[in-house]
Amino acid sequence: MNINENIERIASGLPKGVKLIAVSKTKPIEDIQAAYDWGQRAFGENRPQEMASKYRILPKDIEWHMIGQLQEKNVKYIASFVHLVHSVDHLKLLSKLDKEAFKYGRCIDCLLEFHIAEELTKSGLTYEQAVEMLESEVYRTLRNVKITGVMGIATYTENTDQVRMEFRHLKQIFDRLKDRFFAEDRAFKEISMGMSGDYRIAIEEGCTMVRIGSSIFGSRLLKNKLI
Ligand SMILES: *Cc1c(COP(=O)(O)O)cnc(C)c1O
Repeated sequence: MNINENIERIASGLPKGVKLIAVSKTKPIEDIQAAYDWGQRAFGENRPQEMASKYRILPKDIEWHMIGQLQEKNVKYIASFVHLVHSVDHLKLLSKLDKEAFKYGRCIDCLLEFHIAEELTKSGLTYEQAVEMLESEVYRTLRNVKITGVMGIATYTENTDQVRMEFRHLKQIFDRLKDRFFAEDRAFKEISMGMSGDYRIAIEEGCTMVRIGSSIFGSRLLKNKLI
């Protein structure tokens, strides 16, 4: 597994306007350092404590992206440095991020995560839930978080037509929210969709960020279970 070659191949195939988030969850510091030495600066993690310990060791010009489910009680581990939280799916989490960001005098950029896959287990908001959140009194009071776009995870399937429809659905949600709530807001511009198996489709459907792990760092095996 040559990380430099992988990242070079993937990055050079991305169109302008699509940012690569290298998903380094479960991977050791040396692997992240290798990608960093190549020139990669944006890394994705899904566990707050793991992200915080990597942050402490690695160069400070890395952008850390939280892509996994985040519990309110764990926000404190990442609030001082996280670059973008991709996985905001309820108002209480957004409020907690706001509160913790305030302590550091900063504003945390966030994406709203939508449920676009067919599996019942995948997390994320519906369009209606997002509207309810954006129209709430509580949301209006938040000053230390900023919603800059949307995120979604497609169904894990060989059926590329289905994956394409799901990504298209997320793009439609983005467009509707943009019209209704963020028309004047140039910061609302990100569509985070596409992983190792489906990022080419995501690009065709209009993503601005892809989150790629195993195609860069190799598969993640833990206790003989693929994670
Ligand atoms: C793990 C993960 C990825 C990367 O998945 P790969 O298939 O390894 O590229 C992307 N997005 C999220 C939310 C993830 O949890």
